[in-house]
Amino acid sequence: MYDLIIVGSGPAGLSAAVYGSRAGLNLLVLEEKPMSGGQVLNTCEVDNYLGMPGINGFDMGMKFREHVDRMGVVCKTAAVTAVTEAVPRPLTAV
Ligand SMILES: Cc1cc2nc3c(=O)[nH]c(=O)nc-3n(C[C@H](O)[C@H](O)[C@H](O)COP(=O)(O)OP(=O)(O)OC[C@H]3O[C@@H](n4cnc5c(N)ncnc54)[C@H](O)[C@@H]3O)c2cc1C
Repeated sequence: MYDLIIVGSGPAGLSAAVYGSRAGLNLLVLEEKPMSGGQVLNTCEVDNYLGMPGINGFDMGMKFREHVDRMGVVCKTAAVTAVTEAVPRPLTAV
């Protein structure tokens, strides 16, 4: 049983994973694509991220993933097709 299941490992999902991990939550990240990074992976050059001027989007996606890996976050490849709410809780991703 997880405290938190995050759907998607783009910047938003992996940021949530960093905060969840720092809060001591037992969490899981589910990503349907074989790589983390989300839309950033398709970007040639990102110039508006402080501290990483002109970074290639693919490299940025890899850095995001390295960050959560270092924190021990578990990321699995799976497409979530539904999120159901058990009564009264918790939510379950299937
Ligand atoms: C060509 C291009 C250039 C860009 N350039 C810049 C830039 O220079 N600067 C900038 O700030 N922003 C840029 N962006 C925008 C930036 O990439 C997005 O704002 C950012 O990726 C959004 O992050 P996100 O985590 O919210 O969503 P996403 O990046 O869309 O990540 C969502 C993740 O969830 C996964 N997912 C979705 N549904 C499911 C499911 N049912 N089950 C499992 N996994 C699922 C997806 O596969 C994806 O990996 C660019 C975008 C593109 C396409």
